[in-house]
Amino acid sequence: MPFSKLGLPPALLNGVKAMGYVDPTPIQLRAIPVVLGGGDLIGSAQTGTGKTAAFALPVLARLGKHEARGPRVLVLEPTRELAAQVETAFRDFGRFTDLRATVVHGGVGYGRQRSEIQSGTDIVIATPGRLMDFLQEGTLRLDGLKILILDEVDRMLDMGFVKDVKKIIAKCPRERQTLFFSATIPPEIADIAAFALRNPTRIEIGIARTVNQSVSHAIYPVSMGKKFDLLVALLEKTDFHSCLVFSRTKHGADKIARKLKSANHSVAVLHANRSQSQRVEALEGFKSGKYEVMVATDIAARGIDVAGVSHVINYDIPANPEDYVHRIGRTGRAAAVGEAFTITTPDQANDIRDIERFIGQKVPQLKLDGFDYHAAPTFPVNAPQASHQPHGQGGYRPNSGGGGRPSHSSQHRRDGGAGRSTGGKGSGGQGNGGQRIGAPRYQDGPAPASGSTQGGGHAGPASQPAPQRGGLSRGTWRRRG
Ligand code: AMP
Repeated sequence: MPFSKLGLPPALLNGVKAMGYVDPTPIQLRAIPVVLGGGDLIGSAQTGTGKTAAFALPVLARLGKHEARGPRVLVLEPTRELAAQVETAFRDFGRFTDLRATVVHGGVGYGRQRSEIQSGTDIVIATPGRLMDFLQEGTLRLDGLKILILDEVDRMLDMGFVKDVKKIIAKCPRERQTLFFSATIPPEIADIAAFALRNPTRIEIGIARTVNQSVSHAIYPVSMGKKFDLLVALLEKTDFHSCLVFSRTKHGADKIARKLKSANHSVAVLHANRSQSQRVEALEGFKSGKYEVMVATDIAARGIDVAGVSHVINYDIPANPEDYVHRIGRTGRAAAVGEAFTITTPDQANDIRDIERFIGQKVPQLKLDGFDYHAAPTFPVNAPQASHQPHGQGGYRPNSGGGGRPSHSSQHRRDGGAGRSTGGKGSGGQGNGGQRIGAPRYQDGPAPASGSTQGGGHAGPASQPAPQRGGLSRGTWRRRG
């Protein structure tokens, strides 16, 4: 069914068209009519499914025209980056309306946000901490609220926002529409849902356990000491467009980035210890193609929406299986294809088994052709504990000679098995802020946890080439407001 049959007004259909969307995604198809009809909704859907448009479009439709009084819609997001991204989406979709959206989050001054609120806005997209500040000082009132959207509720809980979220819900008028999105709905989230929603329609799409069909993923076992060498070799032998490398620690991310730079890669770094402006610069630079690699901690695992992330490499195995899905979900977004590699060490059998159990499939274990698994490490990596980081100094010298990565073909094969070629390459779309108030701003993230261990397993990579997506892209992620 095309967008035009969903009951959205022409101004929004034009906005959708301007975004380059042709057909609605499954969650859009199912959620838009429910929200347009005024009903409450619980959506179990990850980012990457088109969830933002699924709520933003019908909400904009319900608002109609700008009204100067207080906000009629509040969207709660767990991190500054997600808040900024969702604000951009509202602006993009609403570009042919006169509605106003304002983002409210920590990490930046209060002045501009305060004056935007005071000048009258229709939609506030906020992280809980800063929103509470504005509520407490009386700048923001929620009496006129018609629609409350709680997004990424499981993440808000992980980040310790439960109390704030409950307080905020309690400050909203009882007569309202509530939309509730969470990748998973464990009991404590079901409790909040029961407290916040009335007779909700349930929509489950792209459950967090599922690895996106368009991503092929594989494990690359290696000895601890050769992790970094393998990372460099993977990058070298892979024809990537842009690659997100995950480190478990902030310190590790910095070290990996430094070494990748010395191996002639253009590298951005994103983690919670970086300043707001550094984070914005990293993300924007990665989106624009200025940096081909971005090394990040798990703050980037959810929600980051950069067109053309062709590859994700888990330099460190994620601390919990759910993060595996979120991390590799950064590639293969919407209709693009991608590849994800996870570097593992022999002590990580249990972690791999946990991931495989969680996603309900075996992940193939591959060896990289041409990589000398027995040679002494160029960049020896010390055993875990200290932080899973590579140690060593100086620039990596690719055996193949030449500075940059070669253009084309990765040589990855299964343990003792057949060849496999690399696929994904994305389009490098550029995010483009909306018309009305403000511009997206970004923020701070949590410290990653730690875990460990090894395993086995074989399965066909879950890969399915798909057409590349057009349209705009934006960045994301999470943490307190
Ligand atoms: P989201 O799950 O909302 O983070 O969206 C993931 C990505 O899919 C974003 O880049 C959206 O712009 C894109 N997207 C959302 N809906 C559609 C659609 N109907 N057609 C094409 N791309 C879409």
